[in-house]
Amino acid sequence: MIPYGRQSIDQDDIDAVVEVLSSEFLTQGPAVERFESALGDRCKATHAVVVNSATSALHLAYLALGVGRGDVIWTSPITFVATANAALHCGADVDFVDIDPGSGNMDVDALERKLHESAAHGKIPRVVVPVHFSGLPCDMERIGKLANEYGFRVVEDASHAIGARYLDEPVGNCAWSDITVFSFHPVKIITSGEGGAALTQDAGLAQCMRELRSHGVTRDPQGMESAAEGGWYYEQRSLGFNYRLTDIQAALGLSQLNKLEEFILRRRELANNYDSRLSSVPVQLPQRRQYADSSWHLYVVHVPERKHVFDAMRAAGIGVNVHYIPVHLQPFYRAKGFRAGDFPEAEKFYAHALSIPLFSSMTESEQLAVVEALEESVSGGR
Ligand SMILES: *Cc1c(COP(=O)(O)O)cnc(C)c1O
Repeated sequence: MIPYGRQSIDQDDIDAVVEVLSSEFLTQGPAVERFESALGDRCKATHAVVVNSATSALHLAYLALGVGRGDVIWTSPITFVATANAALHCGADVDFVDIDPGSGNMDVDALERKLHESAAHGKIPRVVVPVHFSGLPCDMERIGKLANEYGFRVVEDASHAIGARYLDEPVGNCAWSDITVFSFHPVKIITSGEGGAALTQDAGLAQCMRELRSHGVTRDPQGMESAAEGGWYYEQRSLGFNYRLTDIQAALGLSQLNKLEEFILRRRELANNYDSRLSSVPVQLPQRRQYADSSWHLYVVHVPERKHVFDAMRAAGIGVNVHYIPVHLQPFYRAKGFRAGDFPEAEKFYAHALSIPLFSSMTESEQLAVVEALEESVSGGR
């Protein structure tokens, strides 16, 4: 089976991990610091806080921005459930903004309309969470301007988008957002096994997330209420978690980050190949946007008979997948009152979307096999 995505691990990565195993630190230590500083440099962010998953990073980002009971966050229905769930873990509510069917990203016109209507009822979301679907950045400048106008905060769910660029600047620089979140799950662009990061230019937000990542405890005398009673002394200032990344994971993440450029170039090359090789196949190809360079986490085509094509591709050994079942249609969210028809563009998008294999170690012959299987299964449909 050719998977839709997979990690690329080489000897460098293995050596980096093995080195940590014989060092003094296994969990959060010097490798975590090195990974954070390299991430910040690469993405032009002053602060990078790494944690054990993007889900944890989203949770900490929302908490740092004060999301709690009585608040609402808005995101896209075309995302992984974690984007929304993290807000529920803060005690907040979730609502959605429909997508632009061309990109799969939050439709900024729909966002503007919804803000206008909600402002009339005095109900502005505390945080809006655009998701850079498939690695294609959302139009952040417009979203950032709406944030200033209406007074909400912005967290970018860039789980798909490390290495992508917006207006020729790296995603993660938070030029139009408060915090940007990455995922290092093996299926994403670079991996640390499990892992995630929250990047920000705001020292206060970074400090808050660092503290919450480790039980809400500080050992920094500056942040303490009382004078340190001795070298052992620490204070718990808030209710935090154990969301730490290990040094083992950070060493892998850092080694992978060194190859980010190479990975993105290969993904872009594969995407360009798909564009040309599929141009005569009756499927809709992913759109591009002038203001952005995608990291190509996913290559999503739209096919008329999705179930037929999905089954035929899987039977041919091609590990296609579907991104995503709209979050509001999940039973858990329906029980909160969402219904089919609430976000029609997202629902239409889901009905025809098919992610075909794309990963940096994909070979020429693997790609040709995917193209051939897609041609056959599309023409075999009704
Ligand atoms: C993968 C993903 C997440 C969750 O990432 P984890 O690191 O697995 O917690 C969140 N949002 C989106 C859009 C994702 O693709």
